[in-house]
Amino acid sequence: MGFFSRFLPKRKPVEIKNNVPKEKENIKTTFAVYCHKNHNTSGEALCPKCTALLATIMIKMSRCPYGITKPICDRCDRPCFGAKQTKEFLEIMNSSQKHMLLSHPIMTVKHKLASMGVDYAKYQQQKKSDDKAKAKEKSAKERKEKKGKKK
Ligand SMILES: [Zn+2]
Repeated sequence: MGFFSRFLPKRKPVEIKNNVPKEKENIKTTFAVYCHKNHNTSGEALCPKCTALLATIMIKMSRCPYGITKPICDRCDRPCFGAKQTKEFLEIMNSSQKHMLLSHPIMTVKHKLASMGVDYAKYQQQKKSDDKAKAKEKSAKERKEKKGKKK
């Protein structure tokens, strides 16, 4: 709890949300922003390189092993675009962040919240396993103490 929990909605019964269309839109927009700025393109058209990379990503996203509840790609533990494409993808996503915030503030903030949500889920998972380890340690210690008292 604490910092991250402020940004998360209150706990509701499990609800499966399809995050893919929104994320696809976000990635497409980010690519457009990046390509327009760095490769002198405009409007719907992207340069061939960005078009190819974007197409690969869209296909891979539709086949994401996590399904529709997938985490967002730039926070994924095992991105499936391939090493080179993932690197290029992250470069585009990261370098366009500032620009995206100016041109598409709401979309960017939503994306930011989603990535914080992923970080938070990871944090909770880690905490859970840490707690388990601690509880194990504690009970082992208590058992030891009991044994000691018996003697
Ligand atoms: Zn481009």
